[in-house]
Amino acid sequence: MEHNRSTSALFVVGVDLGGTNVRAAVVDRKANICGQARNPSAAKQGIHLVVNSLVETVRKAVADAGIKMTDIGGIGSAVPGHIDAKTGVIHWSPNFGEVVDGQMRIFLETPYCEPISNELGVPSFAGNDANIAALGEFEYGAGKDTQDMVMFTLGTGIGGGVISGGKLVTGSTGGAVEIGHHVIVANGDQCGCGTFGCMEAYCGTAAILERAMRKIESNRQTLLFDMLQGDKTTLTPKMIDDAAKLGDAVSLEVFEETGYYLGIGIGNAVNLFNPAVVVIGGGIRKATGLLDAAERSMRRHTIHSLAHTCRIAEAQLGEDAGVMGAAALAWRKLDGLE
Ligand SMILES: [Zn+2]
Repeated sequence: MEHNRSTSALFVVGVDLGGTNVRAAVVDRKANICGQARNPSAAKQGIHLVVNSLVETVRKAVADAGIKMTDIGGIGSAVPGHIDAKTGVIHWSPNFGEVVDGQMRIFLETPYCEPISNELGVPSFAGNDANIAALGEFEYGAGKDTQDMVMFTLGTGIGGGVISGGKLVTGSTGGAVEIGHHVIVANGDQCGCGTFGCMEAYCGTAAILERAMRKIESNRQTLLFDMLQGDKTTLTPKMIDDAAKLGDAVSLEVFEETGYYLGIGIGNAVNLFNPAVVVIGGGIRKATGLLDAAERSMRRHTIHSLAHTCRIAEAQLGEDAGVMGAAALAWRKLDGLE
C-alpha cells in the first residue's frame, strides 16, 4: 500500500511486550526484520524494571542489526491491556504490576511511552496488543490492499482490532474493540470478565475444552476417551483436532459448534463495520472445520449485502504479529497516518 512518506528514518523498532518475554525487532521500510532480541519482561516487578528490560532489549536488537540508536525513527509497542495512544499512559494492564507488601498491584494509570523515549532518546508509541496485531495484518499481512478490516485473535482470551477507513480504531482511552467480550448469547455462560454470554465464554480455549468434556462425560463414543487415558486434565485443543482429523464425530462437532458461535461474533462485526476482510489469528483457527463452520454461521447472521462483500482470511504474520504491528504503528505515527 502506498502511503505518504513524511519521515526520512530508515528503521523503526517494534516491541512485543508479553507477560513472560519482551521481544524487539528492528524493521525497515520494506518490512524486513533487520535485527532482534528477546528478554524476560519482568511483568510482576514494577514499571521501572519492565522499562529497563525493554530498553535493554531494544538496544540489543539495534546492535544485532548493526546500526545505531540514532538510525531509529521511532519505537512502537504492543502492550496487553488498555493504553492511551495520545498520552502513552497504561490505564489498565492486569498481567503487569508490582508486588507491594505481598499484594500484587496491577498497572493502573502508569506512564509507559515517556520513560522509554526519555531513556532511548527516540519517540515512543504504543497500543493494545490485539489492536496492534490487527494493524500489523492491515499493513503487512492479510489486510493489505483494504481500508476496512476486522481481526479476531483466538486463544485463551479473544482479542480484536478494527481498521476503519484506513485508521486503527482505539476508542477514547485505548480500550476499543474488546470483541471477545461482546455478548453473543443473552443470559449465557459466565465469562472470565464477570459478564454473561461473551464471545470468549463460547469460543475461548476453555470453552472449547469444556464443550468437548461435556460430550465425553455424556458417554458418547469418541476417540478422545482413549486418548485421555483416564486423565481429563490432559485434554488439549490439539488432541481434539487430532481426533477430528481421524473423523471423530464428537471432535468434529466441538469445532462445528464453536464455529457457529464464532460466526455470530464475526457476523456482528461485519454488520457494525462493513469490512472488506475479517482476519482470524491464533493457532486454533486451523482446527478442522472451524473456519468453514464460522463462515456459514457468519453468513446466516449478517445482512446479505455486507456478507456478500466480505471475505474471511487467516492471519499471515504468526508470532511476528506483535513486533510487526508495533513497527507498523511507529511508521504510521512518523508518517502522520495514525
Ligand atoms: Zn467477557
